[in-house]
Amino acid sequence: MRTIEELARPEVLRWENYQVQPVTGCKMDANESSFPLPESVLQAAIEWLKHEDLRIYPDTDCLELRKAIAGRYGLSVHEIICTVGSDQLIDYLSKAFLSEGDRIVVPRPSFSMYALSAEINHGSAVPFELTEDLRYPVDQILEICRQNRPKILYLCNPNNPTGGVIPEEDLRRLIEGTDAIVALDEAYAEFAGFDHAEWTKEYPRLIVLKTFSKAYGLAGLRIGYGIAQAPLIRVLDKVRAPYNLGTFPQILAREALKCPEYAERIRITAAERDRIYAALAPYAGRNGFMIYPSRANFLYMRTGSAGIEEYMLARGLSVRFYGDAAGTIRATVGRPRQNDALIEALRAWVTVQAADDKE
Ligand SMILES: *Cc1c(COP(=O)(O)O)cnc(C)c1O
Repeated sequence: MRTIEELARPEVLRWENYQVQPVTGCKMDANESSFPLPESVLQAAIEWLKHEDLRIYPDTDCLELRKAIAGRYGLSVHEIICTVGSDQLIDYLSKAFLSEGDRIVVPRPSFSMYALSAEINHGSAVPFELTEDLRYPVDQILEICRQNRPKILYLCNPNNPTGGVIPEEDLRRLIEGTDAIVALDEAYAEFAGFDHAEWTKEYPRLIVLKTFSKAYGLAGLRIGYGIAQAPLIRVLDKVRAPYNLGTFPQILAREALKCPEYAERIRITAAERDRIYAALAPYAGRNGFMIYPSRANFLYMRTGSAGIEEYMLARGLSVRFYGDAAGTIRATVGRPRQNDALIEALRAWVTVQAADDKE
């Protein structure tokens, strides 16, 4: 008899499960929305549950939702694919484009799912490091692509966890300078006030990845989508699981697209982000503290010491910790009072606590 260990793929046995940090107190770790479900979306959800039937399989093609998304961008339904979060879209990109041993090129630091998904699907990831001031090193990326001939180049704009954006001329150089699929992850683009869905008309190898998990505050429903020219979408559709997206997520996503309240919420979140940055930027350079400009709904900081984790958790602030000696954290923008608490805690850390540490 063969054991589970003998039957499993050897590399799978070596992998760690995706770890989610335990949360205590104020949840500022996962870039979720701090706003409740809008009343109109909640009402539509309740009405739908009262009158519709969950015994029936969902529309396997998500046609109405794709129409709604396509309508918003002035595109056709053939240029949209809907998935269970953009995580599933990343998985489909790996499944559809990677054969055994194929490579992808990914930024570092950035979203861990790109590399993870490539490895699960028998490929491998070649990382490039962001520059000292956290920009994408265009020439170096193009050189890495020339050497490695990746099937997919991932770009995250604004980049998670650093919050910076790729200037448009750099973006064009990256798309035009490679012959890979360019997967442009714009999960946070609403907070930056742009999106590059339009660019897919010009570039047949470009796919823009979008999600309802962040600006639309629907992370719990797992809804993502991709925008690309029809031939690219058709390839992805071949590896898509039937009925991948449930009826309820499809209905709520359509309702969310109709809801006018999100624009104001996005504006408030961006203003709060800028307020946190302005409050903490004067401390840059003190006791190893550094904060970086962000166009997303989070801020990336170096706090000078690994002790930051215990310190923040003791104050009920669950930000994302990276556990490094530089005390790197990523804090999601929350409600104004949570942001006040974040600012106060970090001010005290930089001016008092960090100084104590160094004695
Ligand atoms: C949160 C996030 C996503 C969205 O993931 P979902 O699976 O749609 O929840 C995608 N890309 C990045 C960079 C993210 O941070």
